[in-house]
Amino acid sequence: MKIFNVLMGLLCLMTAPVSGLAQEKIPSKGLAAVSNKGKFEVYEFERHAIGDNDILIETMYASICHSDLHHVHEDWGSEEYPMVPGHEIAGRVTQVGKNVIKFKVGDYAGVGCMINSCGDCNYCKANLEQYCKNVVMTYHAHDQYHGDEITQGGYSNNIVVKDQFAVKIPENAKMDQIAPLLCAGITTYSPLMQSEVKQGDKVAVAGYGGLGHMAVQYALKLGAEVTVFDITEDKRQDALDMGATKYVNVNNEDELKGMDDSFDFILSTIPAMYEPAMYLKMTKYKGDFAIVGLPALDNQPTLTVANFVFLGGRNVYGSQIGGMKETQEMIDFSVENNIYPMVEIIEATPNLVEEAYQNVLDGNVKFRYVIDMKTLK
Ligand SMILES: [Zn+2]
Ligand SMILES: [Zn+2]
Repeated sequence: MKIFNVLMGLLCLMTAPVSGLAQEKIPSKGLAAVSNKGKFEVYEFERHAIGDNDILIETMYASICHSDLHHVHEDWGSEEYPMVPGHEIAGRVTQVGKNVIKFKVGDYAGVGCMINSCGDCNYCKANLEQYCKNVVMTYHAHDQYHGDEITQGGYSNNIVVKDQFAVKIPENAKMDQIAPLLCAGITTYSPLMQSEVKQGDKVAVAGYGGLGHMAVQYALKLGAEVTVFDITEDKRQDALDMGATKYVNVNNEDELKGMDDSFDFILSTIPAMYEPAMYLKMTKYKGDFAIVGLPALDNQPTLTVANFVFLGGRNVYGSQIGGMKETQEMIDFSVENNIYPMVEIIEATPNLVEEAYQNVLDGNVKFRYVIDMKTLK
């Protein structure tokens, strides 16, 4: 036994430096925000070496999520620049670590909002890695598992990620449309699953943007009758065309009459100031009001204790993306049922990304910008 241990020790001593030498950092190039003013530049940097459980993905498409804007503009606290945003990433595997069996070179893979977690806490064990205290977000987080390096996101030509935090994208998927599912898809799919929305349920989706238009498609697929709420006339026809039974322009008071106690499930995807109590009133007794839209921290909507007491019996909960197991389920469900976001594809130049950000801010996008990362120069 002793001899075996000594031998193993020697083997480790012999192999460690060799694999150490082999582990070279990965050069990467992306589009980085250089300040909170939203100016972008082409930026070259390095990613950590491909570990035994990691894969290298060549990015094909990365999409622009509203939360990228919140990060770039420091709406959710102070940030560090240059920052390469992007947590909706679709690409092809080009290298795998020696322990990886989930992927092989050439497979399609997707990466969402997180790239690592402790793997050991109650959340991780329950496939809810997004709530792990030591979760590492895809960009602009300090990665304690890699010397505290600052993570950089998907507006780049590649990404290194632990295989567990990449999803398998089926070969028949529409690659140019699938990236937004990694955040907008899972963020809306997960609460619909948590609330067990089913055939015949009355569902409301508040906010008909990147997230909202995914929620509508999932709710319809589950057999629900869907009403959409937004603040503009511009989206009325799109929502009805998608299959919503009703569209309510919240700025038009008449349309809101008689809607109290109407819905089994309401999902708020609104990323700006609004009145949540209005939606709580519209939730049926024993119904669920789920919140996924996260407005800027200095501009937070509120529900008061009085709201909860006077509108008792309704369940209110927040939800953040979904765990990796559920994210894989969502990808498989979406591809199988041909559920994709509506996208506008742009080339990977600083100017076009800046322009896209302005359009997202102004609400002038239907519904997700996808950056074709192969066009990055
Ligand atoms: Zn997002
Ligand atoms: Zn954990």
